[in-house]
Amino acid sequence: MESLDEHLEAALTRVEQAGRRRVLRPARLTGNGRIEREGRTLLDFSSNDYLGLSKHPMLTERAREWTERYGTGSGASRLVTGTSDAVLALEAKVAAFKGTEAALIFASGWQANAAAIPALLAALPGSAVFCDRLIHASMHAGLAIAGARQHRFRHNDLDHLEEMLATKGTDAPARVILTESVFSMDGDVADLPRLVQLARRHQAFLFVDEAHATGVLGPAGAGLSATVPGGVDVVMGTFSKGLGGFGAYVAGSRALIDWLTNAASGFVFSTALPPAVLGAIDAALDLVPSMDAERSHLIALADRLRSGLAGLDIDHGASATQIVPAVVGAEADAMSMAAALEAKGFLAAAIRPPTVPTGTSRLRLALRAAHTEADIDGVLEGIAACR
Ligand code: PMP
Repeated sequence: MESLDEHLEAALTRVEQAGRRRVLRPARLTGNGRIEREGRTLLDFSSNDYLGLSKHPMLTERAREWTERYGTGSGASRLVTGTSDAVLALEAKVAAFKGTEAALIFASGWQANAAAIPALLAALPGSAVFCDRLIHASMHAGLAIAGARQHRFRHNDLDHLEEMLATKGTDAPARVILTESVFSMDGDVADLPRLVQLARRHQAFLFVDEAHATGVLGPAGAGLSATVPGGVDVVMGTFSKGLGGFGAYVAGSRALIDWLTNAASGFVFSTALPPAVLGAIDAALDLVPSMDAERSHLIALADRLRSGLAGLDIDHGASATQIVPAVVGAEADAMSMAAALEAKGFLAAAIRPPTVPTGTSRLRLALRAAHTEADIDGVLEGIAACR
């Protein structure tokens, strides 16, 4: 009999032969939009610390204060002893930020989607799910756990969704639409007002992932769902990107939150987030509403980058946010461009299948408020030189 390691080495060899074996490479965010990797300082277009909050003294200070007050661990899951007054106050603050009745904190965005989606569907037995083809892996995980009946519509093609809503799952007792407000690999946005309209017209509930919008887009950084009054039934987002910390939230009605508190497995059976992380979230929520200047700066930088790419005849898809793809097509081209850019001092991750569809391999450029116009011009020059 072969050993477990022999099986694993064989599986790894298959991944390697497909050119898809990944390895971990240490890196450290150093502030001002830079990152240290293997002894070099690189201009970083790969992290999601969009507002630079992960190094903000108010976050680090509050993380320290909450640790000193409450300790390094929260001791148990939320339903046992892991709910302090501070967590409840923080959840009320998240709800106020999102403009919803209530909110619940999860251990991570992945866990929030993987837990909240099956919990929601458990309350809607037999429901039909309509999801954008490009939703995040964690939403797919949630759907797989739920064993959901799925209909996938073409990315951001709401005519396709409408056609499906009219013809599929019409006998289902409930229908749910799942999408992201900002798509993580394309930086394009979903048309939430039309989605809300479609959901109402076709008796469906709408679930929106705001991982990349939280802190960055919408009024006071509250995300794009905040621009559609009373429209979105369930909204989730992370504290791990624009808010510079870790963890995630699901926000919506009090009934939704009470149900998730009872039924979301990844919430019920997982230890509450540690006080340091909660403290950092608390500080980020104090800061984010006043960061309009940083948000406008990010949008201006993204416009500059997109026009520069267009000038180089490089497709940036439908990007309308701080995430800008430079679509090069072939996997090998994306890989070699990323390597050439790294040699020149720029970190721009190559994203390839299965993360994105075949033939759309790209550099994913994530902009940060700490970047300057000169940084954008620099990476554009780098891209031009290594095509
Ligand atoms: N949803 C989307 C759209 C994401 O891009 C991510 C992060 N890659 C997640 C959820 C998961 O969030 P987290 O990193 O906080 O687990």
